[in-house]
Amino acid sequence: MKKITILSGKGGVGKSSITASLAVALSLNNKIICADCDVDAANLGLALGLKQDDSGKDEMITTNQKAVFDKDKCISCRKCFESCHFDAISWKDDKPELKQFGCEGCGVCQLVCPADAVSLIDIYNAKVGCRKTKYGFSVVSGQVEMGESGSGKVVAAVKSLAEKQSNGAEIMLIDSAAGIGCPVIASITGSDYVIAVTEPSPSGFSDLKRALEVVRHFRIRSGIIINKFDINKEYAEKIEEFAKNHNIKILLKFSYDRCFVDALVNMTPVIEYNPKYLPKFNELIDSLKSELI
Ligand code: SF4
Ligand code: SF4
Repeated sequence: MKKITILSGKGGVGKSSITASLAVALSLNNKIICADCDVDAANLGLALGLKQDDSGKDEMITTNQKAVFDKDKCISCRKCFESCHFDAISWKDDKPELKQFGCEGCGVCQLVCPADAVSLIDIYNAKVGCRKTKYGFSVVSGQVEMGESGSGKVVAAVKSLAEKQSNGAEIMLIDSAAGIGCPVIASITGSDYVIAVTEPSPSGFSDLKRALEVVRHFRIRSGIIINKFDINKEYAEKIEEFAKNHNIKILLKFSYDRCFVDALVNMTPVIEYNPKYLPKFNELIDSLKSELI
């Protein structure tokens, strides 16, 4: 199975919208599965018309541990309180108390406790699940609970579930979070190819370069899609020149079209909302195939 990750240096450039249409176009002639790895803002399912209550079984997973204090064993020495670098412990009635958010499960309080009064327990703070779209392929997604950390681990769990549910799929499309953080690195790890979606603006160009630096570090081949290329021709040309200098293929350029937004509002991939885009996405698939050989 070939794994293709779609990322963007910055948010709001049309990544999930383009991923949704690419998935539908690919599924016409290939068996595919999608992994929505934007676990802090999962919306690929929405772009493919899946509603929140669409049937699908979610599984709770743990990405972290939290400290628990045994107040009967505690001798009130304050060592845990003084050693926590995350300021996750408050002091109340001469005993330590864990604050609601903040514990990183580092285990320092357990190490310094002279009374064996601290234990670390797994917390089930994220969920992963698989849902079938009306186009016949499935989307595996994950979500971290509010205020919780561990997005990278949830991405790994989403990809692992997508492997299990792939059922002979030839292609896994991975919709990564924007940026260059841990979830992005977890998304691109093990990918055969990365598509970087950008828009021609100073921040779009700067964030694209940072994202592609990460991709290059992992020695993964990549191509660029310039969305709304006609809103700023100067920066579109800068991106093309950058691509040429770094031997990166420009896979496709989209001019600005309000129907991308309208399609998203209507929870419909743009190739279904406006079929004039199907040839464009077929062109993208041909480019990808030649890149993946
Ligand atoms: S596990 Fe680490 S972060 Fe959590 S309370 Fe203990 S010292 Fe603080
Ligand atoms: S280190 Fe242990 S004994 Fe000391 S205050 Fe914390 S829990 Fe209590």
